Amino acid sequence: MKYIDQIDLKGKRVLCRFDYNVPLDALQNITDDTRIRATLPTINYALDEGAKVIIISHLGRPKGKRKEELSLAPVAKRLSRLLKKEVKMAPDCVGDEVEEMIRRLVPGDVILLENLRFHPEEEKNDDEFAKKLASYADVYIDDAFGNAHRAHASNVAITKYVKECAGGFLMKKEINYLKGCVEKPARPFVAIIGGSKVSGKLEALVNLIKKVDKMIIGGGMAFTFLKALGFEVGRSLVEDDLIPKAKEVMETAKALGVKFYLPVDCVMAEDMSAEAETKIVPVQEMNSHWMGLDIGPATITLFTEALSNAKTIVWNGPMGVFEIDAFSRGTSALVHSIANSYAITIVGGGDTDVAVHRTGESDKITYISTGGGASLELLEGKELPAIAALERCGAET
Ligand code: AMP
Repeated sequence: MKYIDQIDLKGKRVLCRFDYNVPLDALQNITDDTRIRATLPTINYALDEGAKVIIISHLGRPKGKRKEELSLAPVAKRLSRLLKKEVKMAPDCVGDEVEEMIRRLVPGDVILLENLRFHPEEEKNDDEFAKKLASYADVYIDDAFGNAHRAHASNVAITKYVKECAGGFLMKKEINYLKGCVEKPARPFVAIIGGSKVSGKLEALVNLIKKVDKMIIGGGMAFTFLKALGFEVGRSLVEDDLIPKAKEVMETAKALGVKFYLPVDCVMAEDMSAEAETKIVPVQEMNSHWMGLDIGPATITLFTEALSNAKTIVWNGPMGVFEIDAFSRGTSALVHSIANSYAITIVGGGDTDVAVHRTGESDKITYISTGGGASLELLEGKELPAIAALERCGAET
């Protein structure tokens, strides 16, 4: 796969696919611009090389219809402030007016085209739509890692119609960390998997168990494993149909000599609410009517100890219902343990990065992925359609 720094960009129209799917409040203010900032190295590089930069992106789920509240105009404004230069905003992503605006670009200009998903053809991976987008480009750069697990016109079909294509710097980083570190980790390699359900992370568990030295399980999914071991788990989140799978994962771990860590105590509550009465109990004393909503203090010590000699740590999914203060301590404590470790630390998954930012430790994490679903699919060992398309196109050009 080629990357942007292997291609001559001078004077060329460089069409960049970014993932500007940023959160907006009711007044269309951007509440977190991480995804915009993450694209600055690619844009600045292209500008320094003397390119004309044309940006395409989606935002939200307009379902193929124009919805003013999902316009990319606020992104153009923020990007302009970050780049300290004008970013032109096109009224659409296709059509005569857009083509005319692109024709008038000079090297050093930046234009953002309107939300791709205003057109149903985008999510249908439509060839004609992709051809139109491709006609704006001398070079196509895909830096939209957050959308790489989707096969859409602007990141898959388009690669058949552009002369030259490559990944951007964000794509490069995401692949290097999430694929490179997992395939060739510095050892001991520890994976921490949490979140709500086993079903959402099963494939990642199955893939990672073959690669890690230690596997740490927290969050709601731990209770399916604990039940599989014969513990009473009360009204905790359990997927009974996955108990055989949970047993299989633990047997694989044993056969491979992978150390497998489950919570030894947990915070139980009557309900999943801020007002609920709570207590900390060892897992062998879990109440049959209450639910486990966070890992307990002994588990924090155990998990922290397990991380102490790690050289690579991959983490996906919170240790408890961290959105509610009473059940957030396990997740926060683990953020601190990871931040203070000497390992290469990689955090993936939307919720986990929210937890890291909340504790103010994000600067101490080696890499925080910008893609939730896409990062999980890489950890599952899957081939992402957009990355496969870039590899095919890069090999041909
Ligand atoms: P996921 O999207 O699978 O990573 O799950 C993230 C969600 O898991 C968060 O919203 C947490 O509130 C939830 N979660 C974590 N631990 C538990 C638990 N013990 N019981 C129920 N939900 C949990």
